[in-house]
Amino acid sequence: MTKPLVVANWKMNPATWREAKKLFEETKKTAAKTGISIIVAPPALYLRELAKGQRGRVAFAAQNAHFETGGAHTGEISMMQAKDAGAGYVLVGHSEVRAAGETNDDTRREVAAALTAKMRPILCVGETSRTSSGAHFNFVGDQLKAGFADVPAAKVSQVIVAYEPVWAIGGEQTMSPRNMHEMAIFIRKTIVGMLGQKGLAIRILYGGSANEENSGMMLRDGDVSGLLVGHVSVDAPRFMALLCAL
Ligand code: PEP
Repeated sequence: MTKPLVVANWKMNPATWREAKKLFEETKKTAAKTGISIIVAPPALYLRELAKGQRGRVAFAAQNAHFETGGAHTGEISMMQAKDAGAGYVLVGHSEVRAAGETNDDTRREVAAALTAKMRPILCVGETSRTSSGAHFNFVGDQLKAGFADVPAAKVSQVIVAYEPVWAIGGEQTMSPRNMHEMAIFIRKTIVGMLGQKGLAIRILYGGSANEENSGMMLRDGDVSGLLVGHVSVDAPRFMALLCAL
């Protein structure tokens, strides 16, 4: 099995730089103890200081970045600014950003802009609700088709897909590994359909209430090679327990 990759999405936490430094030190210890590669996505304001001089198992992601290279976009950061601050990865289309108005077309441009800036986009997809009709496949399919529309086949493996069913985010209950497995097959099939066999190499992460109880099972049976972790990633003891359980 490929070594798991875990993204720690700190969202708008912690409240102070002092706490951020402390949390980062704990996160580094977790990476060293478990040997698992962690990508920390801190608030942009903390990125440069945290990334300074860091090498090894901990890498950095911007939580969001604009597709334009500069200009009149108050409150935004560009891919190059994030990269210059130390981010090798960038979350694209996180559900909380989509909820604030980001469209599939924005994600298309952001994925392309990230690749141009030589960053690896982590394209977040996932339906807001599920019924037995199977409509969630169409919903996720549309997000994937937009996100990969401008990705050349040669670069497809640079993109990471994080499947995050929105209804599972922020609690303690994940979806079942069986349902994740089914979705992973659908994701690969969609990308292979667009970009050919290279799409089989795509890395798929699961996100949505991943915790110390459910993550091991998700990695074993969910057909994913990593996790995107939100609230548990800012609770150092729980994050350590989660990674130890993988
Ligand atoms: C997320 O928001 O990306 C996420 C996975 O959050 P949580 O782990 O808190 O569900």
